[in-house]
Amino acid sequence: MLLEIVKYPDPRLGEKCARVAEITPELRELIGHMVETMYEKDGVGLAAPQIGEGIRLITVDDTGPKERKALRILVNPEIVEGEGAKESEESCLSVPAFSTKIKRKETVTVKAQDENGQDVRIRAEGLLAVILQHEIDHLDGVTIVDHAGRLKRALYDKKIAKWRKNREQAQA
Ligand code: ZN
Repeated sequence: MLLEIVKYPDPRLGEKCARVAEITPELRELIGHMVETMYEKDGVGLAAPQIGEGIRLITVDDTGPKERKALRILVNPEIVEGEGAKESEESCLSVPAFSTKIKRKETVTVKAQDENGQDVRIRAEGLLAVILQHEIDHLDGVTIVDHAGRLKRALYDKKIAKWRKNREQAQA
């Protein structure tokens, strides 16, 4: 089932998500829908708040929707180590028609549980390190817009307000 992506400036994207206490059958079902939605939308990562669930859960596949070779389900992910710095251009399914350069850690170590509740530890670099930091940001209510400069953000807010007005006019 495809889930609807929550889009900026929806306040749900600005909330700190709750830890997952237990991996239930309902949660597994949600994970399946999230994975399907991530691939269908051409994403390399998706965080639960992006589909309106305020819980600490992300899905990641840095090989992308065509290859689908490295799917990771991470429950309660946490960055426990980070080193170096690297800047790259990022975009987000929840922030349409926007991208911005963001400086992040070059390598990170992430601790989490997988979909079976087993502890996992991932040491990541390159694209995977970027995705993990981007998705874990979502769990703390942070989007790429928050990383952008003030001017860039103001311009985007203006653009969104204009879209919204056009939409309202079209519906009127
Ligand atoms: Zn995102």
